[in-house]
Amino acid sequence: MLKSQALQELKQELHISHSQIFVYLHCSLKYQFMYVEAIPPARLSIALSFGSAIHVCEEKYYRSLMDKNYLEPLNILEELFADYLSLELDHSDIPVIYKKEAPNKDSAIELGKKLLKVFYESVDLTGIQIIGVELPLSAKLYTPEGEATELNLIGMIDLLLRDQNGELIVIDHKTAAKAKSQSAVDEDMQFTAYSYLLAANKYVFPTADINCRMDVLRKLKKPKIEYYYTVRTASDRKRFSKIASMVLTAIESRIFMPQKSWMCSDCGYTDVCSKW
Ligand code: SF4
Repeated sequence: MLKSQALQELKQELHISHSQIFVYLHCSLKYQFMYVEAIPPARLSIALSFGSAIHVCEEKYYRSLMDKNYLEPLNILEELFADYLSLELDHSDIPVIYKKEAPNKDSAIELGKKLLKVFYESVDLTGIQIIGVELPLSAKLYTPEGEATELNLIGMIDLLLRDQNGELIVIDHKTAAKAKSQSAVDEDMQFTAYSYLLAANKYVFPTADINCRMDVLRKLKKPKIEYYYTVRTASDRKRFSKIASMVLTAIESRIFMPQKSWMCSDCGYTDVCSKW
């Protein structure tokens, strides 16, 4: 099933995604602009399009291996990256915000190809089974009192693997200029959301821990890949459910306010925000 088709089917349910919860927690005003008022952003961050283009290539690589046992040649992934990014940037009717590490489209394409080479040469699936690629999942959300809400949490797991010991490993792909801290990875709510979805869909026992790994392609002059490991427990999932429930209550109560943070530099709503 195509990713967009699977996503559309999930979205037919009353839902909230991890990214919506993430946006709300980091800036509820941005949430209002994006999801309540559906205001088109005034600027596009290159980081967003760049990350999506790398993501599409990683998906193609793993999907071909899983479905056809076929190893995509590197040059095909490079072409896909260049075509995808060019299409995104050339058809954007809003200004693109470039970054120091990729100040224009050509340098972004060059950097992307270097990152893909690092990715390609780093993959080691010895003894590993691919269980899912862009795996779409949905699960009912509960109130802190344990009552089922009408809303489902929806999400797409980048990559789900099973190791030699039969343990599942959730993989999240990222691109980043800076290194991650272990504490940020341990606190990363996306992994907790994935863990919630997997447990609710009976991929693991309700009390089981879930191993997670963040594969970060670093956007450096000499790119490299870094792996960060973390674990999510049943109590992490319980806490996540409470957070999601409180976010839903706050959204229903229309509590929206600005929250200045690192997100502001890439925010497409700075103009409308300053007039708030
Ligand atoms: S500019 Fe910053 S404070 Fe304003 S909406 Fe965007 S993220 Fe929120």
